[in-house]
Amino acid sequence: MVNAAQNDDRLRKYQESLRILERDEKLLRAREQVLRWLVGRLCLAAQGQSTGLDAALGRLRNAVRGEVDAAQLETLGNGIASAIRELDMGTATLTGMKSGAAAANKAEAAGTAQQAAPESDPSPNPSAAAGARAPLPGQAVLGDERVRSVLTRLLGELRREPKLSGGVAEIDRELGVSLTAEQLPQVIERVGGLIVQRIQGLERTREELQQMLDQMVAQLEMLSRYVAGHDLEEDERKASNDTLNTQISGEMHALGSAVDSGNDLATLRKHLRTRMDSIGRHLQDFKGRELERSRQTRERTDQMRGRMEELEKEARKLHASLADEKRLSLLDALTRIPNRLAYEQRLEDELDRFRRFGQPICLATCDIDHFKRVNDSYGHRAGDKVLQVVAECFAASVRSTDFVARYGGEEFVFVLPGSTLEDAQALMNRIREKVAEVGFHFRGTPVSVTVSGGITALRAEDVSGDAFDRADKAMYQAKDAGRNRVVAA
Ligand code: GH3
Ligand code: MG
Ligand code: MG
Repeated sequence: MVNAAQNDDRLRKYQESLRILERDEKLLRAREQVLRWLVGRLCLAAQGQSTGLDAALGRLRNAVRGEVDAAQLETLGNGIASAIRELDMGTATLTGMKSGAAAANKAEAAGTAQQAAPESDPSPNPSAAAGARAPLPGQAVLGDERVRSVLTRLLGELRREPKLSGGVAEIDRELGVSLTAEQLPQVIERVGGLIVQRIQGLERTREELQQMLDQMVAQLEMLSRYVAGHDLEEDERKASNDTLNTQISGEMHALGSAVDSGNDLATLRKHLRTRMDSIGRHLQDFKGRELERSRQTRERTDQMRGRMEELEKEARKLHASLADEKRLSLLDALTRIPNRLAYEQRLEDELDRFRRFGQPICLATCDIDHFKRVNDSYGHRAGDKVLQVVAECFAASVRSTDFVARYGGEEFVFVLPGSTLEDAQALMNRIREKVAEVGFHFRGTPVSVTVSGGITALRAEDVSGDAFDRADKAMYQAKDAGRNRVVAA
């Protein structure tokens, strides 16, 4: 029998489940925001190839600013694909800005212009280059690092989804060697396809959440009906008791009248027997009603218990998959340390604590020096390895109460609660020296990797982003002063 305390406990559990679902929904939204932002940046980066492509990219950029469903995205994606095909076939109207380069490419394809362009990577990493197209002599190497950086970040975001990892790895390999302006539209088209798949995946997750919420609401409604059923049962029970009382007092009254009327003993005995028989029947009816009611109650309770168990099982399954998703959404895919989203959440918590208790907190940013040279000289894979080792070194060097995240690219951010500016400076210097002593080797050559840092203490008047900007500015001072150093602001 489910009693009131168990019902209260279950209600509390479901309210908690709803709260968790709402929070996870928020998290999904935050990830979707990052993807929307990346799509916008990618569109900007790819602009200037042709008027058709620019228009299609503009439409996609506008669409991802608002609510957009998977079918719309597919249509927009198809628009981009056809603009890219036109570009490939040379039927596109070229934009003024890049028409010179594109026309040169076209002319090159026709065998007219034969001017050779220099390769940006003098010694491409052979393993990284496996399966990728190297630039042909005469093809312009894509000089715009911004494009590569946006694509890299985008791929990092997409890599989170295990179903897309094959596609991401393939594009990643191509980015590991020099990418030509001619290859760029195809790469962007493929990345675009992966983005559409990812957004569709996110939409599916949101729909599943919605379904689960609907189901929970339905179950809660059923619970309230069950409670209302209890009330009804109480009323019926009371009515049945009242009936019995009225019937018995009627019989007693009739018996009293028979006694008072001065009948002889034989008549009185007859009366008594008749009344006793009636009372017996009334009690029998009452017992029948009670038995039927308790049978119905048992049936309803069993049904309710079955549904509750089913719901609990589903809620547990959903929580486990959401917990998994949440854990992944806060981790950087490449370095497996917390990402920028995790940093923003952590900073918010620490700021709350700082405002309440006033304990000192420092914030430090740290950026790998001349990282582009590592990529350019030894390939993107070597660059990735450096990022992983440096992140590992950072994570191993801080206390359990400290926090370090990959902010983006080759920049990291530390949150150091309980540290004064002097403490933080000493720690960041120790970490800086540790990185310098790692001893990286690529293709048998020792390669020096150093970092520069900027540190600041949180101030009461700081509003969002102030402390980070101060630390970042100090870090650029460290760069200007010759790198491999930390500066406190
Ligand atoms: P500085 O000392 O001034 O910081 O110079 P830098 O070369 O480190 O800085 P810059 O901003 O010029 O170049 C950063 C490079 O980091 C460019 C970008 O392609 C690369 N990068 C960003 N994210 C990744 C990544 O995930 N993997 C790899 N391999 N490279 C990345
Ligand atoms: Mg750098
Ligand atoms: Mg940087």
